Amino acid sequence: MRYADYYIPTLREVPSEAELDSHKLMLRAGMIRKAAAGFYSFLPLGHRVLKKITGIVEEEMDRAGGMQVLLPIVQPAEIWRQSGRWDVYGEEMLRLQDRHQRDFCLGPTHEEMITTLVKDEVRSYRELPLRIYQIQNKYRDEIRPRFGVMRAREFIMKDLYSFDRDAEGLNKSYEAMYEAYERIFTRCGLRFRAVEADSGAIGGDVSHEFMVLAPSGEAVILYCEACSFAANNEKATAALPKAIDEALLNLEEVETPGQATVPEVTAFLQVGPDQLIKTLFYATDEEFIAVLVRGDDELNEIKLGNLINKPFRLAPPEELAARLALPVGYVGPIGLKEKKVKVLADLRIKTMKNAVCGANRQDYHLRNVNPERDFTVDTFADLRLAKAGDPCSHCGHPLAETRGVEVGHIFKLGTKYSSALQATFRDEDGVEKPFIMGCYGIGVSRIVAAAIEQNNDQDGIKWPLPIAPFQVTILALGAEQKAAAEEIYQELSAAGVEVLFDDRDERPGVKFKDADLIGIPLRLTVGPKSLAQGEVEVKVRATGEDFRWPLPEITARVLEYLRNAMDACR
Ligand code: ATP
Ligand code: MG
Repeated sequence: MRYADYYIPTLREVPSEAELDSHKLMLRAGMIRKAAAGFYSFLPLGHRVLKKITGIVEEEMDRAGGMQVLLPIVQPAEIWRQSGRWDVYGEEMLRLQDRHQRDFCLGPTHEEMITTLVKDEVRSYRELPLRIYQIQNKYRDEIRPRFGVMRAREFIMKDLYSFDRDAEGLNKSYEAMYEAYERIFTRCGLRFRAVEADSGAIGGDVSHEFMVLAPSGEAVILYCEACSFAANNEKATAALPKAIDEALLNLEEVETPGQATVPEVTAFLQVGPDQLIKTLFYATDEEFIAVLVRGDDELNEIKLGNLINKPFRLAPPEELAARLALPVGYVGPIGLKEKKVKVLADLRIKTMKNAVCGANRQDYHLRNVNPERDFTVDTFADLRLAKAGDPCSHCGHPLAETRGVEVGHIFKLGTKYSSALQATFRDEDGVEKPFIMGCYGIGVSRIVAAAIEQNNDQDGIKWPLPIAPFQVTILALGAEQKAAAEEIYQELSAAGVEVLFDDRDERPGVKFKDADLIGIPLRLTVGPKSLAQGEVEVKVRATGEDFRWPLPEITARVLEYLRNAMDACR
């Protein structure tokens, strides 16, 4: 491709709307343009990267037994009502009506659609297993569309659905997908990690996320360096500390005037935050719920949501004062039962001895509170956010923390959708059974941003070779070098190399800047000095290494370099 004939509208200015490096660089490198918040056009360079990723994803899905289809983006409300998700999905679903006022949505995901299709087509166990996938736009009206294509309202997803006879079949499909995902991200040239994950609105009980490791990633990953444990912190649990062996002292009310926060109370009473019981209040449509966590812990609202299992919200202080006569800042678990408040507590509360909590009286706290003696808890559960330094729940080694961008998510669904939509097959024993399903998503367009997030410097993008828009760029520095550069361009192109030949009449400085910004892995510079010596200057964008290759050997050298670099991503 000749740069002069191609459309790469690079920007010198850093766009003010962009926070993340990947967002800034995609705009600056002329890969995307914004149409509206969360809606983006991919320009030629961006589109080439998408196609590369799509190609790798398709190859690996096909290899893992997937069959590609294309389902409608517009989906009838009816099937979502049957699965019960029309209401559950909430504001994230983009809804529309046709001219007859019939309800539809723009698919945020396709479990309902695919289950309905398979239900009408597949009758017998003989036709199983089935693995069906598509690559298509998805629509989610995210509360905060941001970071460009990283969290967009329209994005490209690969979604595969597996249909099996039994749990064993599902395990095989899940494993096949897990392995396919490992190959996909390896082949994209990315550093990634598979982690245990929460299933969220999709459902099911086993799920893994694939994270591209990057310090700016939204997801926090806890992992163990001594064993193989790794989990999203939304899901991660840690081992419990040993119970303290201490005599139970007498409950005592102490005055703590104006001391309402954890740091204030612990400083005032000279105790550690691990000695404090924090009482947080939530509400459902039916009741108030108090949630207890240790003063040094954070509540994990995802775990709480899984336990409550219905819509809930934080109860504001005014509501606690008005409806329960509780003084905010001085609340505690003792006496809440009498107020008909449900009490949930993190498992670590159970092991506490002679703790401190609010006295449910303005400006007072209680000392020597002992959970087993002084108050009742409806349910103890793991409700805290695990953190770095916690002992691993598998081996006890302290957990480490890192961050990542979620690029893939796989789920064992079981019969959640097949039961709701009555999708059954006739098994060998003649009995009608619901399909055992799994679903497997990859954020194809998010991978573009994640790859940049992981691979960039102050000058621009450093594309991993397998997903780079071009493999090689050639810069001709002056008019005299153009003929030699042209020859290299022709030869490399004929050898099947993807080349961007910067043939523009621009100053060398502009060409170098654009080359660094766009981030093509291998840069060949044909300049007056090296050319006079029969050589070409070569620079590797990712590492900054540079060398000189003799002009007559250039094609062979480039091919060898590309072969080795691609082999490193297998
Ligand atoms: P997140 O937690 O980031 O919102 P999710 O759990 O809602 O993701 P899934 O429903 O598992 O995502 O969707 C499968 C994949 O689609 C995700 O792993 C991610 O790569 C991608 N994806 C999800 N939401 C978006 C979005 N708003 N923009 C771009 N990609 C997305
Ligand atoms: Mg989401």
